[in-house]
Amino acid sequence: MQSYSLIAPAKINLYLEIIGDRPDGYHELAMILQSIGLADRIDVRANGTDQIRMYCDDPQVPSDESNLAYRAAALMAQEFPQSYKQFGGVDITIEKRIPIGAGLAGGSTDAAAVLVGMDLLWKLGLTQIEIQELAAMLGSDIPFCVTGGTAIATGRGEQLSPLTSPDFLYAVLAKYGDIAISTAWAYKTYRQQFRDSYAPDNETLIGRKQRVHSGAIVSAITQRDGKRIGQLLYNDLERVVLPTYPKVAKLRQTLEELDTLGVMMSGSGSTVFALVDSQAQAETVCQQLRTLLPNPDLNLWTTQLTASGIQLAH
Ligand code: ATP
Repeated sequence: MQSYSLIAPAKINLYLEIIGDRPDGYHELAMILQSIGLADRIDVRANGTDQIRMYCDDPQVPSDESNLAYRAAALMAQEFPQSYKQFGGVDITIEKRIPIGAGLAGGSTDAAAVLVGMDLLWKLGLTQIEIQELAAMLGSDIPFCVTGGTAIATGRGEQLSPLTSPDFLYAVLAKYGDIAISTAWAYKTYRQQFRDSYAPDNETLIGRKQRVHSGAIVSAITQRDGKRIGQLLYNDLERVVLPTYPKVAKLRQTLEELDTLGVMMSGSGSTVFALVDSQAQAETVCQQLRTLLPNPDLNLWTTQLTASGIQLAH
């Protein structure tokens, strides 16, 4: 039986602006998404049955149809019934390294890996754009996860414009093990509290959406100016998450006191990250943070920003 092993990187948000409401009920967003070295490993194997079966080393991850990776395989079976008939079902094994409910798109990147893996397994020869179209049917962050690197993401997050990756930068990620935040809750609460600041009409909405392309942080990324990138990090969702989760707010505040390029919450949290310009500095920041916040439930990672999305594992 043939199988493929894939590396599925997490992402952080260098920028997240909520522009307004869309007719389809989603938010119109302007984001800058960035892949990082922290990654899950996904194995996709033809199993000779007609079933999709899931295995994961983390008991917190659902191993039923609610797993995004399962839904990606089910979508492939639905969209390519002939191949499903010919090749049969798949066993999907996830080695989970990306924390859950962390704002790091862990589920989304697993789903992206399954789409890429099944394209190879079923010898479909899909283009990247075709895989991204399938990805958009599953979730807003999944098209980005396919190609990864650095991109401006607008619409629901699925309209992508690639940027040159600031892959000379490193990040410290910090997350309390017992705080997982629901993305749906964060956006719903934001709408309840800040609807007044939404773009009042379509013209304003399009104007604001286009503004991100010429924004200061995009120039900083293009100019590979790490210091400016750090200063221009932005996330609207901090406005609802930090007041509700004081431990996350305190973590962010403590990281800000250390020598970094900048600090921000990723996505809907609960991960807070700091950008730094070397692995050595990332390790120093980790050590200092451990001393300042000696809580065994605080998990820390050091990682590099990366230019790659889903890759075959060697
Ligand atoms: P995002 O940044 O896209 O909002 P997140 O990092 O906040 O994502 P995930 O780790 O993707 O959140 O998980 C959110 C929920 O999705 C979890 O509660 C989990 O039950 C469910 N889930 C479904 N599939 C997966 C998967 N493959 N890995 C992790 N969680 C999954």
